[in-house]
Amino acid sequence: MQTSALRRALLVWFRRAARPLPWRQTRDPYLIWLCEVIMQQTRIDQGLPYYERYAARYPTVRDLAAASEDDVLKLWEGLGYYTRARNMHRTARRIVEEYGGEFPQKAELLQLLPGIGPYAAGAIASIAFGEAVPVVDGNVRRVLARLYNLDTCIDDPQTERELWRIAASLTPARNPGDFNQAIMELGATICVPRKPDCTHCPVARWCVARALGVQEQRPVRKRKFPSPHHEIVVAVIARDGRYLIGKRPAEGLLGGLWEFPGGKVRPGETHQAALVRECREELGVAVRPGGLIATIKHAYTHFRITLSAYRCSIAGKSKIPAQSAAHTELRWVSAAEFDDYAFPKANHKFLHLLREEPALF
Ligand code: SF4
Repeated sequence: MQTSALRRALLVWFRRAARPLPWRQTRDPYLIWLCEVIMQQTRIDQGLPYYERYAARYPTVRDLAAASEDDVLKLWEGLGYYTRARNMHRTARRIVEEYGGEFPQKAELLQLLPGIGPYAAGAIASIAFGEAVPVVDGNVRRVLARLYNLDTCIDDPQTERELWRIAASLTPARNPGDFNQAIMELGATICVPRKPDCTHCPVARWCVARALGVQEQRPVRKRKFPSPHHEIVVAVIARDGRYLIGKRPAEGLLGGLWEFPGGKVRPGETHQAALVRECREELGVAVRPGGLIATIKHAYTHFRITLSAYRCSIAGKSKIPAQSAAHTELRWVSAAEFDDYAFPKANHKFLHLLREEPALF
């Protein structure tokens, strides 16, 4: 393959056709990093408002480091993959504490920070600091698998190593950041998963998969199995116009977010029995399940849930503890205060019912 001609063609195309995205107008490593964290596994139209909100609220890494975790998570609400937000916050604090507020300039140092993997490190180091290191994200994987007609499964570690090797061999010493952005942009706009627009592709003449007519069969992927499904119940407990919510531990799925007490329904268990058991285990109190408020279906990356929210009341004079095995903190909040707390997306699908119809209780 004529590497230098391919690079040139790609860069010429990129300078003409690149979408004018806000992070393309800057070499500020903080803003580039912000964009990379937010845009991972997120469509641009979905991630863009989040990027703009974070950049406006926290214009520098010091501003982000000084924010509370609750505020950082609240702004992230609805974007999913909350570990990214927590890692972003931790990294901002480490950059301020360990590096005096300046980003390390080398990919290998950037990778030592929470949540910065080889891809993000390569993107920041090449775009902000001009280090000739490659990036391999989903778009780059697809473009390279087609250009080089890789017929091994893209999810295999060996193929992944091969992709990084190819990407490194293509990355130029001059303008590596533009080249990396160009190949990602090609994957996002022309070499798309279905029906790549090969007639408008600037590197079509070097594309082996296209020459063989197999571009739509690349990359080769593992067959997907349906994700598991969990039945979830939550207890909406009200007292004096306030609702009981708990904060999930920082580590793990949806860490640091607020939710209503509850959990998975066990095989053969009724929703009512599951509510009683979960509240006893989580809060140490006996509850009386009442009527159903809403049933919500929601899909996470690796599983799906059906969540049923029930009105519940506390039996007798049981006292609610300040924290529980499942929650680092428990609070009584009014429906008007829900906006001050970051909830998982599934909860948003019924929170409005509590706001609009407090008379339900
Ligand atoms: S020619 Fe087609 S398949 Fe090959 S890189 Fe270009 S858009 Fe992708």
